[in-house]
Amino acid sequence: MYFKLIFIRLFILLSGALFGYGILPSFWGISGSVLGMMAAMIAWTVIDIHRQQSIIHWIRSEDHSLPARASGHWADLADKLWRLWRQFDKQKTENDERLKQFLSAIQASPNGVVLLDQNNRIEWCNQTCAHHFDFDVIRDVDQNITNLLRDPVFIAYFQSGKYDTDIVINAPKSTSSHPVRISVHLHEYDRGRKLLLSRDITLLEQAESMRRDFVANVSHEIRTPLTVLGGFVDTLIHLPLEEAERLHYLKLMAEQARRMQSLVEDLLTLSKLEANPSPHANEWVDVASLLTQVHSEAEHLSQIMYPQGHQLNFEVMPHYLMNGAATELMSAMANLVNNAIRYTPEGGSITVSWTVHADHTAEFAVTDTGPGIAPEHIPRLTERFYRVDSSRSRETGGTGLGLAIVKHVAQRHGARLQITSKVGLGSRFALIFPAEKLRFVQDTFNQD
Ligand code: ADP
Repeated sequence: MYFKLIFIRLFILLSGALFGYGILPSFWGISGSVLGMMAAMIAWTVIDIHRQQSIIHWIRSEDHSLPARASGHWADLADKLWRLWRQFDKQKTENDERLKQFLSAIQASPNGVVLLDQNNRIEWCNQTCAHHFDFDVIRDVDQNITNLLRDPVFIAYFQSGKYDTDIVINAPKSTSSHPVRISVHLHEYDRGRKLLLSRDITLLEQAESMRRDFVANVSHEIRTPLTVLGGFVDTLIHLPLEEAERLHYLKLMAEQARRMQSLVEDLLTLSKLEANPSPHANEWVDVASLLTQVHSEAEHLSQIMYPQGHQLNFEVMPHYLMNGAATELMSAMANLVNNAIRYTPEGGSITVSWTVHADHTAEFAVTDTGPGIAPEHIPRLTERFYRVDSSRSRETGGTGLGLAIVKHVAQRHGARLQITSKVGLGSRFALIFPAEKLRFVQDTFNQD
């Protein structure tokens, strides 16, 4: 290549000299050759500069999709440049694409991400973080993070320079009625840059607090009957009692043992409901025959609890099957009927109905003439261990878990629990099942 270039130049020079020698000798002799050579050199240089300029023009232009138009030895250079350019373009497109994918992945993350430069200014942040801290992903770029996040706990953490653990702060939109708690963790990288990760832990904190309350409640519920039982055992051991007294204490002990047993059974029911998958779509339950059993148990409970009993009315529609788990439906329906019996004074009336409405939704309802419930309690009735009247609940063998079980069963069957009540007049608890959960059968014993 190199020799080719020297050879071409020498060839042009000699051609120029020969040309000059041939045309000009009669006037200037040998100087004709020199002039010819110079003319050839000048012509070559002009052409070369022109070629060089066209390549420089191509380099400076924006569009490198086509190779530069060049000839001679510049064509090789232009071709090499064009190939490099294309390689660079391809690499750049690939890098841009990778960066785009990387940023979309961070955007999709449930965690907030902020990149800070050496001066603690926001370089980039994702939508989740903007949502956590009310940032504007475009407007707030280049803002100093401490101007936007002014929580004193965050400022102290930020300035400490010790980022081994995370901190938890309130989100700017957090209020006392709707707390929003955000965990923030800083990580240093690349000589002074920082990565800020944020996570909404409101639900996690609520779940943790519910778990703590639950454990405290269960311990309390078990401790009370255990203390009573322990007291009776001591009495039986240490005091010489008449046979009648001994029997009396043993009956009271059996009552406390039953109370603990009911509590454990309800807890097991709840944990089974939480652990098991939703009922299978192929399970069909004959609600009418389920309610025959509920009816006879209700009569029995009413008579045990109150000598006069209650006026019990069962209005049950036959021929309908319900998609769901028989044991769960039985437990929910029996819980509602038992509550009505336990809270309605003797002689009161309790109506249990199972109907299908015109829009094909089905309703299981228990209406009583009991004490009723004040409106402020109604939204909290399905919370575990929530009781309107604790002593009444315990007196009648309540665990405080019945309506929590009902709510769980309802959710698992796509149903909703509707509670209406008026103090002094009575209450109505209804489970409303969607139409698709129901199937009409002429003969309820021929379910297939
Ligand atoms: P419990 O075992 O205490 O009855 P539940 O979860 O079944 O627990 O019910 C929660 C609370 O709702 C009860 O303690 C009671 O105060 C109230 N409640 C439930 N059913 C009735 C009802 N039919 N009439 C009046 N109050 C009721």
